[in-house]
Amino acid sequence: MEFTINALNSFITNLPMGIEVEGMRYVIGVGSIYLLTWIIFAGVLKNRRIRKALPSQLRIKQTIREMRNSVLSIIVFIFAYSITNYALEDYFGGPVFKIYSDVAEYGWAYLVFSVVLWTIGLDTYFYWTHRFMHHKKFYNFFHRTHHRSHNPSPFTAYSFAPPEAVLVYLFVPIFFTLVPMHTMAFGAAMLIQTTRNAMAHCGYELFPKGWARHPILGIFATVTHHDLHHEKSHGNYAFYFTFWDRVMGTEHPEYLERFDRVTQGTNRQSNALAQGTDESTQPTT
Ligand SMILES: [Zn+2]
Ligand SMILES: [Zn+2]
Repeated sequence: MEFTINALNSFITNLPMGIEVEGMRYVIGVGSIYLLTWIIFAGVLKNRRIRKALPSQLRIKQTIREMRNSVLSIIVFIFAYSITNYALEDYFGGPVFKIYSDVAEYGWAYLVFSVVLWTIGLDTYFYWTHRFMHHKKFYNFFHRTHHRSHNPSPFTAYSFAPPEAVLVYLFVPIFFTLVPMHTMAFGAAMLIQTTRNAMAHCGYELFPKGWARHPILGIFATVTHHDLHHEKSHGNYAFYFTFWDRVMGTEHPEYLERFDRVTQGTNRQSNALAQGTDESTQPTT
């Protein structure tokens, strides 16, 4: 009982700062990608559309649902942070998260390195938890909500059911208990993550022609990579890199060809065939 009260107190204490930080990264990350790809450069990107846009009524319905889910996800993130932070402190009798605020403690090179390590660690964590969520036993409980956006938009980025939001969040306490991280590095990592996430769902291919087949650049996943995952509901499980999908043989067989078509401007006819419909979703592994 005492634990529950203290954990709730921790949540209430963290709430204002949590809303500010989480809200800010959502508005900056998702908002900027939406403004740039769907409003400001919508005309320029017309030929880079990966799939045909949804009819406007369906799009509005999907966006309202995605925004509602995103607000819920943000509350879950703040709640989960407060609880895990408090629970670990309570259990170990002191601070457990290796978060620090003095750059001199580890230096600037380490600060940058920790962001790189976060990115590689998150990609690995995401790949394996994502495959877990696609298992038919767990799909509906964790992941169906995210895949209801069959044809995604930047607002799909945080459209999770609460159980998926918890699973996504759990990378934070795992990383913080293992790796020291400066508050600034954490802020940068989160902003990169949110922006990259919105980009992966924006529906327009932003990477240049030849990128996906390049022996080095091809390791960075393109927008088509995750868009194809939403369209087919299987394959392309990773987030930042193509590494795990290639090693585990889960890269979608149409990925390179589809990327070529989008970037060479020969995708327009096939858009009709690939038009997404809201609500369509199936577990596949
Ligand atoms: Zn998925
Ligand atoms: Zn997605």
